[in-house]
This record gives sequence, C-alpha cells and structure tokens, in this order.
Amino acid sequence: MAGVSSVPFAPSRSPLTTKLEGFGTTIFGEMTSLALDTGAINLGQGFPDTDGPAAVLEAARAAIASGANQYPPGRGVPELRAAVAEHQRRWYGLAVDPDAEVLVTAGATEAIAATVLALCSPGDEVVVLEPYYDSYAATIALGGAVRRPVTLRWPDFALDAASLEAAFSDRTRLLLLNNPHNPTGRVLTADELATVARIARERDVVVVTDEVYEHLTFDGRVHVPLATLPGMAERTVTISSAGKTFSVTGWKIGWLHARADLVDAITTVKQFLTYVNGGPFQPAVAAGLALPDAVFRQAATDLQERRDLLVSGLSAAGMDVVVPEGTYFVVADAAPLGVTDATSFCLRLPELAGVVAVPMAAFYDDATPARSLVRFACCKRPEVIAEASHRLATLKTHQ
Ligand code: PMP
Ligand code: GLN
Repeated sequence: MAGVSSVPFAPSRSPLTTKLEGFGTTIFGEMTSLALDTGAINLGQGFPDTDGPAAVLEAARAAIASGANQYPPGRGVPELRAAVAEHQRRWYGLAVDPDAEVLVTAGATEAIAATVLALCSPGDEVVVLEPYYDSYAATIALGGAVRRPVTLRWPDFALDAASLEAAFSDRTRLLLLNNPHNPTGRVLTADELATVARIARERDVVVVTDEVYEHLTFDGRVHVPLATLPGMAERTVTISSAGKTFSVTGWKIGWLHARADLVDAITTVKQFLTYVNGGPFQPAVAAGLALPDAVFRQAATDLQERRDLLVSGLSAAGMDVVVPEGTYFVVADAAPLGVTDATSFCLRLPELAGVVAVPMAAFYDDATPARSLVRFACCKRPEVIAEASHRLATLKTHQ
C-alpha cells in the first residue's frame, strides 16, 4: 500500500505485561496438549470423563429451549442465588442473604480473581497455602500484590500454626485458603481450621476460601466451611463452583458469598471481567444444588472407589503414595523409581508409560520439597484408571 511503511514489527521485548513475566502456559493446558499429542491417558488435568446428574444436563437443555439465552442479571439469576443460599443453609447451617451476599461468577477461577483484585492494592500481601492452585499466583501477581506461601510438607501436608503465623506481616491483606486442598488431597482438621480462624481474627484479615471440592471428601470426612467457625462469617469470602460437584467443568459456573460490602466490592471488579456468563447454565446449576443429599454423597462414594483404584495402581507401580482425604487428586513420590526431577519425568511419562500426570513443582514458589512428587487425577472411569495402572506398572522394569 502506497505511503505505508513495511518495516517489520519486531518488538524489543515480550508483549506480555511484566506482571505476568514467567507465567507461560498453565501446567494443565501443557499437560493436556501432551496427552492429545501422544495419545497418552490424561491423568493430568482434573476433569471427569463421564457426565454428571442427568437432571442437571436436562435442565440446561430446557433453559436453552425456553429462551434463557441473553445476559443474565449481573449478580446471577435469582434462582441460582437462592439455591446457593439454600445449599449453604441445608448443608452447613449458614444464613446467607441471596440478594446482598451472593455473586455468581465465571467459575471459581473468576470468583478468586475478582476477589483478589477487588480486595488487594499494589504491595499488599496475600498468605497462601503452598502447593497452591496455579491461578492463585497469577491472580495475586495481576493485582500487583505479593504472595507469602506457607508450605504444606509431604507426606502429611499438615498446616503448621507457627509457619502460618510467620507468613503474616503488617501488609497482609488476605489469607487465601483452599479446602479440600488441590493438589495435596488434604481436608483440614478441626484444629487446623480453628488455627486459621484464630489467626485471621487476631490479624484482622479477610479469608478467601476456595471450597470447590466441598462435596468430594472421603472415608466419612465431613466438609466444614471456614465461615461456620465463630466470628468467621463476617470475614470470609466462601467460593465454590458447579464444575466438580456436578462434573460440568466446561460450564464455568461458580459463586461466592460474603458480607454484603465485600460482595459489593468484588462485584465492582467482576462486572468488568466478564460482566456475566452462562445464562442457561445458571438455572441448571440451581436445579443441581436442589438435588437430594444422596446424589451428592453418591458422587463422593464413586470417586472414593476410583481413588482407591488409583492409589493401589500407583503403589503397585513402585511409588510412595499418600491416600487423599478429598478432591480429584492423588500425590505420589516417584523417588523409589529413581526419579529426582518430577518435571522431566512427567514430560517423559507418555513415552515411558503412555500416561500424563502433573509435576507438583508447578504449584510451588520453591519446589525443593516437591522435587520427586507427581499429581495424578482419579476422576476418570475405573477402566481408564485400571489401564493407566497397568501401564505404570511397567515403569519398574524401565529403571
Ligand atoms: N480452585 C481449585 C482448587 C481448583 O482445583 C479449580 C479447578 N477446578 C478451580 C478453583 C477452578 O474452578 P472453575 O473451573 O470453577 O473455575
Ligand atoms: N482444576 C483442574 C486441575 O487442578 C484444572 C483446571 C484448569 O485446567 N484450569 O487440574
């Protein structure tokens, strides 16, 4: 074109904001691509390979057919906000006002992002359990805040009160908790939760608690939301999502509830991230939350059986395994197989055994305590876990 310079565009530095320097592609995307490229069994990214309750799927189809296809209200459709409040009452005895204290979000991911971005100013500190779900670190960085990890250590991954206390400073603004915990599979004990609540009250901070695995606890463990502890309802932002509970991870319907002024602040950010999402899925999730208790319990029982299968498979393959108390995940130590770097081991695992898993190092600032640890997802059909176990059993002969 005449008069238009054709100097090639050659940026002198990466176009990515310096706030996210070094974040690259999420480990989940990377490992799922590896599985697709190699045809390996994907025990990396945590998503189920079966559908959830038929009634929930049918409710979404019905919502689309009935024309619920335009922008829903900013805070979420009234029936979903009411269903979230009723769910919190029915399962935990919490009193939540569906109009003032509930916000529907694009998955738990957006709930976490909107909360951190709304409640932190640049330079504020966020205390976070390490290993942490990967979006936590990125979101804290986007907010210009600083993460202060508290490390849970193999093999019991217990929360140490002194380490938690030591992570606080005058700049601490939030404590970002995840219970049941991805990737360790821990469900915090009553004592650990009481410690968190005590420190949050003493330090006068808000706790953001990611409880997306609330219904996926094993061996009779009961999920206790942090908001139910004395003095905590007013300083807790409770986050959950339909993805895990109803096996609809692609729907990206999440929610949070908190004190009204906190929800107002978080809504201010959320409206500029996605504004709204998932119009027809919102009433479907409302229908899901109203399903009988037995449906929720059965999902946990089914997952527990698959956890047991995977734990046996990994043990038979020669790894040390910690039996998870909840979540989709099993952590194994591959050191007995001679592995000293789980990241390169996971990159070679499709070739070695036709299986994809996630190196725990992806969830740490300083991965030294996790060098040989690997996370495997157990939310797959029993026959898939059996086949993966069969393949992993060949690893011993490779060493
Ligand atoms: N938090 C944790 C601990 C998770 O494991 C995940 C992944 N499901 C999320 C948040 C994200 O949830 P969603 O897909 O609803 O955004
Ligand atoms: N929560 C899932 C996991 O931990 C994956 C979510 C994602 O891919 N962002 O594997």
